[in-house]
Amino acid sequence: MTDIKQIYETLGICPKVYELGEEIISSLDSRFGEIDRISEYNQAKVLHAMQKNRVNATHFAATTGYGYNDFGRDNLEKVYADVFHTEAALVRPQITCGTHALTVALSANLLPGDELLSPAGGPYDTLEEVIGIRESPCSLKEYGVSYRQVDLLEDGTFDYENIAKAINEKTKLVTIQRSKGYKTRPTFSVKQIGELIAFVKSIKPELIVMVDNCYGEFVETIEPSDVGADMTVGSLIKNPGGGLAPIGGYIVGTQKCVDRCAYRLSAPGLGQEVGANLGIMPAFYQGFFLAPTVTAGALKGAVFAANVYERLGFRVVPNSTESRHDIIQAVELGSAERIIAFCRGIQAAAPVDSYVTPEPWAMPGYDSEVIMAAGAFVQGSSIELSADGPIREPYAVYFQGGLTWYHAKLGILMSLQKLYEAGLVEL
Ligand SMILES: *Cc1c(COP(=O)(O)O)cnc(C)c1O
Repeated sequence: MTDIKQIYETLGICPKVYELGEEIISSLDSRFGEIDRISEYNQAKVLHAMQKNRVNATHFAATTGYGYNDFGRDNLEKVYADVFHTEAALVRPQITCGTHALTVALSANLLPGDELLSPAGGPYDTLEEVIGIRESPCSLKEYGVSYRQVDLLEDGTFDYENIAKAINEKTKLVTIQRSKGYKTRPTFSVKQIGELIAFVKSIKPELIVMVDNCYGEFVETIEPSDVGADMTVGSLIKNPGGGLAPIGGYIVGTQKCVDRCAYRLSAPGLGQEVGANLGIMPAFYQGFFLAPTVTAGALKGAVFAANVYERLGFRVVPNSTESRHDIIQAVELGSAERIIAFCRGIQAAAPVDSYVTPEPWAMPGYDSEVIMAAGAFVQGSSIELSADGPIREPYAVYFQGGLTWYHAKLGILMSLQKLYEAGLVEL
């Protein structure tokens, strides 16, 4: 034990901070056990899909140009479809990020005159411009797609009465975001999402339901695609890339919806047939293989953070004992100084760029200044240990990722160390 304490001192963690961390970890055995069991189940699920689709070395070959007959790419899409239990999947490096994947899914399946409904409050910040909630060239609004939103009730549950009223003859697609994103509402469980899907489809069976699954993959043993989502969408530089995918996004769902997504992503008539992989397949396959384990490490970090900061008197979402449906941990630190110190701690704990000092800046797509800490192998990857804090009320910092539990642990300890050194918390 003394050796571990010493190595943490070498990293800049004082004994007081270290000991508080150990005390908290010793109370988390059963939580961590549950996370490990989910991870074990999901590992088996991924392995089974890889075995069923006879993954072999030819699937790792690079293709160039048009990318016709790219067996590695096509087979990976079968693996994804099997893991998510869907008819089809689109998993591509040409999908540049999560926002892009969601944009493809929405714009492929909404036509002029259609209405998009968000029945569970506002969407992720970057989607405001995609939808046209904030004016932007090429928004869905500009193409004649209208938008309606029903906010959550006070207690964070779905407002079924007003959702029913909001569904009309124009309503075509319903978007549900699993993760809280930059909000302090609870993240929805897959079961809750399933209930909402059943409800909207009971009113209008032909509705297409899309779930923004960012940060949710492999946190539970089921996914939104298991409970009726027609499209489930996410980013490969979050959970399903396992930290190895250097770019990419996925859309899994019905053949009909995914076909349209492929036509939108490339071109009508071309669809899924084009899109060279440029040698990225080993990272996509291996990352997906590692994803259940990596996600579990990140979850342990989130649970640890919740317990540390709740102990110190801060409001944390989810709280220290709640069950988890995504890997994000929000901590309401109550001041800009604390957000900045927290993020500097996360940065200082990183394997890459540990010596740089993050500063708040006006990031494109966000409507307030944001400070971000990330010392990642893949730029902007948020399955790697990272923290974001929009500099606005309630001064909450959003912490996520960690390719290993031990790194996530160090990050949290270092955040606390920085707050402690600056006199912003008392231990
Ligand atoms: C990250 C995220 C997105 C957008 O993904 P980017 O890759 O940052 O474009 C959308 N929705 C949610 C809930 C997210 O967490």
